[in-house]
Amino acid sequence: MEKEKQVANLLQVLTPEEKINLVVGMGMELPGISTLKGKNKVPGAAGSTFTVERLGIPSIVLADGPAGLRISPTREGSDQTYYCTAFPIATLLASSWDTELVEQVGKAMGAEVKEYGADILLAPGMNIHRDPLGGRNFEYYSEDPLVTGKMAAAMVNGIESNGVGTSIKHFAVNNQETNRMLVNAKVDERTLREIYLRGFEIALKESKPWTVMSSYNKLNGTYTSQSRELLTTVLREEWGFKGLVMTDWFAGDDAVAQINAGNDLLMPGTDEQRTALLEAYQSGRLDKEALDISVRRILEAVLHSPTYSQYKYSDKPDLKKHAAIARQAAAEGIVLLKNENGLLPLQNNKMKVAAFGTGSYDFISGGTGSGNVNEAYVVSFVEGFTNAGYHFDENLKNNYEAYIKTAKEKLPETPWFLGPPPIAEMPLEAVKIENMAGQSDIAFITIGRNSGEFKDRVPTDDYYLTDGEMDMIEKVSGAFHAKGKKVVLLLNIGNVIETASWRDKVDAIVLAWQGGQEAGNALADVLTGKVNPSGKLATTFTVKYEDTPSANNFPGTELPGAKEVMLGFISKGKPSEVMYEEGVFVGYRHYLTNHVEVAYPFGFGKSYTDFSYSGLTLNSDKFNNEMTASITVKNMGKVAGKEVAQLYLSAPGKSMEKPVSELKGFTKTKLLAPGESQTLTFKLNARDLASFDANRSAWVAESGNYTVKIGSSSVDIKAEKTFSNTQEIVVEKVHPVLMSKP
Ligand code: BGC
Repeated sequence: MEKEKQVANLLQVLTPEEKINLVVGMGMELPGISTLKGKNKVPGAAGSTFTVERLGIPSIVLADGPAGLRISPTREGSDQTYYCTAFPIATLLASSWDTELVEQVGKAMGAEVKEYGADILLAPGMNIHRDPLGGRNFEYYSEDPLVTGKMAAAMVNGIESNGVGTSIKHFAVNNQETNRMLVNAKVDERTLREIYLRGFEIALKESKPWTVMSSYNKLNGTYTSQSRELLTTVLREEWGFKGLVMTDWFAGDDAVAQINAGNDLLMPGTDEQRTALLEAYQSGRLDKEALDISVRRILEAVLHSPTYSQYKYSDKPDLKKHAAIARQAAAEGIVLLKNENGLLPLQNNKMKVAAFGTGSYDFISGGTGSGNVNEAYVVSFVEGFTNAGYHFDENLKNNYEAYIKTAKEKLPETPWFLGPPPIAEMPLEAVKIENMAGQSDIAFITIGRNSGEFKDRVPTDDYYLTDGEMDMIEKVSGAFHAKGKKVVLLLNIGNVIETASWRDKVDAIVLAWQGGQEAGNALADVLTGKVNPSGKLATTFTVKYEDTPSANNFPGTELPGAKEVMLGFISKGKPSEVMYEEGVFVGYRHYLTNHVEVAYPFGFGKSYTDFSYSGLTLNSDKFNNEMTASITVKNMGKVAGKEVAQLYLSAPGKSMEKPVSELKGFTKTKLLAPGESQTLTFKLNARDLASFDANRSAWVAESGNYTVKIGSSSVDIKAEKTFSNTQEIVVEKVHPVLMSKP
């Protein structure tokens, strides 16, 4: 209450110029084109707000990103280091299906934000994995909006428990990097509501992010940062969001339209924007009320910030404790894809291991761009497994290390905003694989991939393996299998790659994702059985790229006519558009409905034990406001483990075409001892039954039969039961907005 009064008082005394200053950020330091005004309180942070000294309004600090705080690790004139913990990437965290764990990670991340003097973390990222080639998929959770929304909410709750803010991003439909500042995404309203907005809606119902970041792209003809329908009608009026909206960095092309739309803060902020706003204020094009509303939202954030309360940050977060959390989280999100004849876990550290693939020695902790963290170290697979007591073939190790060093020295210079290109695999002619297969007990091969902001991935040599990688798998497997020895393949990747053509050549496949700085230790925990893997895919692994429903419409087509854009390196300078022709049939919704064979389905992941499911019970066979389903999961094997049970719902599709089933709930069991069981309960409400009927601008649960399917993946359904909904329910009416403009 007191703060509300303070804000109201400030609004009365701020001049129009000061108000305009406040809605435009302080600029940022960029190599060659610095726009920063004043000094960065936290060097390396992405931006800050304007300060009005005469009224005691301080500047607050905004810093990336989704895998941990991104700031400069060193500062001029100081010997101290400012390293942050590289936590596992979002795609890995989602694969844990464990919201409590994600909240713990958020708590630790938020503590670093606070202790390094920042106020708002520009995270979590929560766009949908529409296409495996999306360059920033690693920063996002899943192809499914429920998983996305629940993970984001847990992350926000964890981070904000420290008294710092978050920014859920990028709102909305930022599913590609190609031409990201100009591309127009054309998406029908049902698809928007059910897939691309749904995760944000869930996150806002289950957490209170201080801020939302609008995206770069246009949506059906309007920049999202300039869309009143999106930022005011949907976000505020329909969903009740009370915080502030900021632009993505340098997004959009009309500062006045942004403020008028309800995009309160323009980041990082330029003088041109200030001038444009001032002129528009004088001419009346800038809505004065909209400006006041934006200023109020910014003041509310500032007044709640640690900077405002002059929090005495230590610059010394508990990095040791956070490393332990990062390790635990990384292990929980590792997915065991294949484990022929129970090869894993390995229990004999007297084994001699031959590690192939440059990635075994040079592990990738996370992606590039603003999602990258400046961590103090990264534990590779070889280091992690050495820490667990295993011994590696030294000769092979030396060969690889020398090769990696030379190859890195020869890499071409890349622009600062892109990560280094990958190095080619070491040709194996130089090492005598046959001898190695004789001397070692087991082979490990690591396949690594990295990507990030500004660039999407490509099918050749990225989604698909390179010839060098295929050759390595072929040769290593051939030599080791000829001697009766096994081969384990490790995937150190940020998102989906092709596996179907080579997976039969190896005995086990462990999807380690990009596990942050403790990745190698976490991997060792799983390989040795210290942690029984319980991760499951939150994104489908397709057989081939063309199977992806968006494959024909990614990353879109160029339109005629050139356009100037600021920061030309981010965008091609030519407008383009991308049709979301697949509609709601994204990911498993498409594969299940259209019977497309996949390599590893959504929800899939193996364990070192087995689980049985029994006693599925619905509280009624008729829907009456709410439906409760319960089922008992029992550990039938010899080791303790956790299981992720998933509830899919098949709805009648009388007036609308619907996916055969959609995820409506998930729960991870506690660690179940052998023989132990746990009864899990799921709740469904009317909204869970509903689809979005664009003709009626309403969420409608049709009458008819609904089937609850509970399983251990989207294709491994263990029990199902049907209930009926006797009368159509119009669950919620919304505004007819966001439709395509000609
Ligand atoms: C990214 C955002 C990020 C911002 C600040 C932009 O390029 O898209 O995700 O938060 O930069 O670094």
